Amino acid sequence: MTTVYGKYTWPEIKDVDKDRVVLLPVGAMEDHGPHLPLDTDNLIITRLVEGVAAAIPEEVLLLPTIPFGFNEHHKDFPGVIFIQPETLMHFMVDVAKSLVHHGFRRILILNGHGSNHPVLDLAARKTVIETECLCVSASYWNLMADTLQAERRSPTGGMAHAGELETSIYLYFDPQHVQLDKARQAIVHDANTRYLNLDLAGGARAMVMQWWSAQTEDGTMGDPTVADAGRGKLFFEAAVRETVGLIREIRRISLKPRQDHH
Ligand SMILES: [Zn+2]
Repeated sequence: MTTVYGKYTWPEIKDVDKDRVVLLPVGAMEDHGPHLPLDTDNLIITRLVEGVAAAIPEEVLLLPTIPFGFNEHHKDFPGVIFIQPETLMHFMVDVAKSLVHHGFRRILILNGHGSNHPVLDLAARKTVIETECLCVSASYWNLMADTLQAERRSPTGGMAHAGELETSIYLYFDPQHVQLDKARQAIVHDANTRYLNLDLAGGARAMVMQWWSAQTEDGTMGDPTVADAGRGKLFFEAAVRETVGLIREIRRISLKPRQDHH
């Protein structure tokens, strides 16, 4: 039995264990500095769900990665494909509702791009309100914040965008497409900020998202110069491990019935 949703026939998918968690990865197509390709978020989130599927094949089903996200604030950089947040939210709810229509009850929307986070959170909540299911949303870096803090070489702000984390994972999987000679350090936030740094390891206690081109010259926000493939492997394996942990929790929780007190 494959883990790839699209490889089943309809009579087969009809009989698949509906307690499997359906993984719905979402990425983005956007600038990642002068050193990483536009598909960075898509590569990372796709490899992550594939890694999870390889680790626990009996427990998950994999849908294809949604390759575009909410990132209009990046559009000053050539190559960005930007989807309106309302469109993305409705699209995700439609996908999730389709799954519920066919009997699935446990869905994990797994996010690979920062600004998708609030949109996907809303999509998951809306799906729960409109259907009988457990729909969870998570951004992979939040699941592994402990590891990021413990293992990082860069200071706070070093892994916000195209920095230590993403560059390391890309180097691990596809070094031919990383132009490390063009990477430069760009830790751009005020070093004294407690609330407004965009670091992926537990940053963003509060959020203001300005135009990307107003905050960084070449699209980088972080320190890609400390990245290496070994670090990428370590970060990737932690992401797989933590996502497996989340999936096990999703499989354990029960769908509680509503009680209308009117
Ligand atoms: Zn990214």
